[in-house]
Amino acid sequence: MRAWREECAVFGIWNHPEASRLAYLGLYAMQHRGQESAGIVSLDQGQHIHHKGLGLVGDVFRDADLERLRGEAAVGHVRYSTTGQNLLTNAQPLTAMLLNGPIAVAHNGNIVNSEVLRRELKAQGSIFHCTSDTEIILHLLSKHPSNDLIRALKDSVKTLEGAFSLAVMSHDKLVAVRDPYGFRPLVLGRKQRDDGGWARVVASETCAFDLIGAEFEREIAPGEIFWIDENGEHSERFAELNRSAHCVFEHIYFARPDSVVFGRSVYGSRKNFGRELARENPVEADLVVPVPDSGVAAALGYSSESGIPFELGIIRNHYVGRTFIQPQQSIRDFGVKIKLNPQSAVIKGKRVIVIDDSLVRGTTSRKIVNLIRQAGAAEVHLRIACPPTTGPCYYGVDTPKKSQLIAAQHSQEEIRSFVGADSLAYLSIEGLFKATQGGHNQFCAACFDGEYPTPLFGLDA
Ligand code: AMP
Repeated sequence: MRAWREECAVFGIWNHPEASRLAYLGLYAMQHRGQESAGIVSLDQGQHIHHKGLGLVGDVFRDADLERLRGEAAVGHVRYSTTGQNLLTNAQPLTAMLLNGPIAVAHNGNIVNSEVLRRELKAQGSIFHCTSDTEIILHLLSKHPSNDLIRALKDSVKTLEGAFSLAVMSHDKLVAVRDPYGFRPLVLGRKQRDDGGWARVVASETCAFDLIGAEFEREIAPGEIFWIDENGEHSERFAELNRSAHCVFEHIYFARPDSVVFGRSVYGSRKNFGRELARENPVEADLVVPVPDSGVAAALGYSSESGIPFELGIIRNHYVGRTFIQPQQSIRDFGVKIKLNPQSAVIKGKRVIVIDDSLVRGTTSRKIVNLIRQAGAAEVHLRIACPPTTGPCYYGVDTPKKSQLIAAQHSQEEIRSFVGADSLAYLSIEGLFKATQGGHNQFCAACFDGEYPTPLFGLDA
């Protein structure tokens, strides 16, 4: 089974007496990037200590686990996978004992030629333990003739095609690597220790630095390998491209709004999407209402551009877990109501513009529009703060197959009719790029325009 739909976060820290506790907090701040497993590997006197588990960061680690994760360096990971392979063996960081000693790899992104590489490696005798594409990196390292981890890593990642932001730790080094397109974010920072010295940190998002009191310094550049060891810090380019392909969906939905991703505030981008959406698709109405939390920043932008008042017409219950006991008698729309409850007091008799960040299958929007009508809205105008999602992501965002993407199968009018809105409009591709002050040379927007920056090795079959 392929395992290419993964959303994840990575973290790494070097030279801090509380390395594993800070890794824990960093992962905690990035929990939105993956909720199915969490893991930390620490480095203590050349040896690795591991703790991984299925579930949320707060549930996987107890105080005693963090006590056991001694040492002044650590790498960590949170993971979410939708391929049914929610197994502990797939939880990261993935670890192995190589000739030189232990290695731990935390990976965000998806490698699109992983099936090809996996087949080649198996044919050469490699034994795989899990379905994660990250394991390929361990095998490539173990086969490499050089003792030098950096040389082995550079050669290994050159054979990978697709998205990889990596935090790697050996017996004596912390390494950060980012693919030449820079699909997924990866940032470098530093944190002052109590004794005045400095620790190095890498993370998927800057919100992790905010929580641990680290300073953001710069992004790990696309095609860069950065490492730190007892000889100091080093950086090299293993590949150069004349374009990048930063995932625009990080700005639309995936990243936390308080992060700075690809050098831009995510919150700022989302407000801009809302402003552009209002310019492109105005409609007469009384209220602008976000779908919380994903549509809030775009709705603020739409409201400020249109002058139509912003109201929290839908309230979100923040304590909804994965499962709940269903009532014995059927309650209409129970599933969505437990999470989102429209307020009649705000909505009744009003012409409402509902803003969400994206529309994928259309099932959520349909339920929300229906609830807003039940709450007494006079009109419901749905505005989506990104273009129609017409293609799956092969680089690490969980979008369903093309056959399940409503905009790949139906016209805008058919979608409007399906969701039951009085009108429906999306942000244009041009509006999206205008709002992010970027273009095709900076961003990957393949889920909207089908322009995949790499070959897909049959994944689109
Ligand atoms: P639907 O159209 O029913 O598939 O759901 C769209 C909703 O899912 C939007 O409100 C988004 O905020 C949210 N969403 C979009 N992409 C993702 C994703 N990759 N993972 C989880 N939720 C998502």
